[in-house]
Amino acid sequence: ETIGATLARTVENYGDNVALIDAAAGRQWTYTEFHRDVRALAAGLLRLGVTTGDRVGLWAPNRFEWVLTQYATAEIGAILVNLNPAYRQNEIEYALGQSEIGFVFAAERFKDSAYASMLAEARPNCPDLREVVLFEAPEWTALLADPTADELARVAEIGASLTPDDPINIQYTSGTTGFPKGATLTHRNIANNGYLVGELINYTDADRICLPVPFYHCFGMVMGNLAATSHGAAMVIPAPAFDPAATLRAVSEYRCTSLYGVPTMFIAELALLDSHGDASDYDLSSLRTGIMAGSPCPEHTMRQVVDRMHMREVSICYGMTETSPVSTQTRIDDPLELRVGTVGRVGPHLEIKVVDPATGETLRRGETGEFCTRGYSVMKGYWNQPEKTAEAIDTDGWMHTGDLAVMDDNGYVRITGRIKDMVIRGGENIYPREIEEFLYTHPDILDAQVIGVPDAKYGEELMAWVRLRDGVSDFTEDDLREFATGKIARHKIPRYVHVVKDFPMTVTGKVRKVQMRAESVEILG
Ligand code: ATP
Ligand code: MG
Repeated sequence: ETIGATLARTVENYGDNVALIDAAAGRQWTYTEFHRDVRALAAGLLRLGVTTGDRVGLWAPNRFEWVLTQYATAEIGAILVNLNPAYRQNEIEYALGQSEIGFVFAAERFKDSAYASMLAEARPNCPDLREVVLFEAPEWTALLADPTADELARVAEIGASLTPDDPINIQYTSGTTGFPKGATLTHRNIANNGYLVGELINYTDADRICLPVPFYHCFGMVMGNLAATSHGAAMVIPAPAFDPAATLRAVSEYRCTSLYGVPTMFIAELALLDSHGDASDYDLSSLRTGIMAGSPCPEHTMRQVVDRMHMREVSICYGMTETSPVSTQTRIDDPLELRVGTVGRVGPHLEIKVVDPATGETLRRGETGEFCTRGYSVMKGYWNQPEKTAEAIDTDGWMHTGDLAVMDDNGYVRITGRIKDMVIRGGENIYPREIEEFLYTHPDILDAQVIGVPDAKYGEELMAWVRLRDGVSDFTEDDLREFATGKIARHKIPRYVHVVKDFPMTVTGKVRKVQMRAESVEILG
């Protein structure tokens, strides 16, 4: 089924339900109203000259126009290209050229990023670029004007001609390990993934999902928006970019039942609750479920989310942009132990295996190796990068993720880190993830990241970057040694400690270990 067909069915069944709330704009839509605006915009796109298969770039933080554009492009089979709100001049020009974008929809500006002037500067270098429409400009309003009956008929006719295997979306990966790559995804890929993720946390038309995660990333647009629209649930946008207070306020005010976040977002929300005491300004009693995903989910944080944020049915998802994104997920009736400590079991209609990264041989349960997956979720390929695609997807259709995992006898998977982040100290493989989990148990530590730094004697040594709780001023190598000795093996105790206020992050909220390693080398001289 196409995304347009799914939306039409939801409108038929749940037309009066709230579809979308934009807290910052102070506006909301029922499914009927939302569908009307989506089709009006689809007609507007046709007037502008957009045709099926054209690439339409979308460059803005989270706001309602983003969601309307997402669904309007899907109606007419234009390929939406998600543009990272953090891009600057070089990056936007790269993406515009790389995806051969013909049309761009953008916010005029966001914080200190002047998108409009960057786009104007990019224009002479981007021969494919035909039109730029700013959400603040009269052209945008004109696109949303009431369509004629003929125009609506044309939108419906094009919609009916689309097939589920048509590409509909180019999503750039987070750029955690290098330059972002453009994963090309079809209706079948993302519509199914959004629907199934929602199924496993029992979404119904009574759910309201609070979405502080960026739409430009699959976490927001697939696990959020597509999961909501396929179940008749509501999408709630708390703010244009992540803000813990605005997020908790939106949960209270709109009685959200589900809340999403990467671990760092939940850590910030819990810290906010701490600073207020538990009986705070926020009423989180409407929360039932939610999803933590995107990077390793600390067990300690998961337990706090269950205990203090009412999210008894919270789920962890694991996946990547290239797989639409979710491959494994915890089920809400899994035992708590497994729900906080693993990334769950394989999703419906997918296959997974753990292989030896060197030989490609499938490993036994309990052995650590590279996580691979196959099925409806695997992308068509990286846009215009056949060699990169061939490196990632083998001839049997398995996507090689670059992540290290171990599967138990019952099929529960633990992600132990990225192959690239594994530290080899004196010939011994060390998984930073394990040490990070340990550091989270220290009462002074708010957040911790462990990396490998070059060392003449051992090849690599461990360094812990830590963020401290409010009111704690210092944390030294001696403090760490004293805390860790006898609790973890000596060779796993980080030799260096570096206290910071914040970690270098991607906009999707992931810690950039590549940058931390480079900075650490400088710090250590
Ligand atoms: P890039 O590929 O550009 O370096 P990225 O891999 O961070 O960036 P995404 O596709 O956004 O881009 O993220 C997918 C990756 O995030 C996975 O490969 C995995 O390393 C990590 N990840 C996602 N969910 C989880 C999870 N629940 N636990 C551990 N790691 C996770
Ligand atoms: Mg990746």
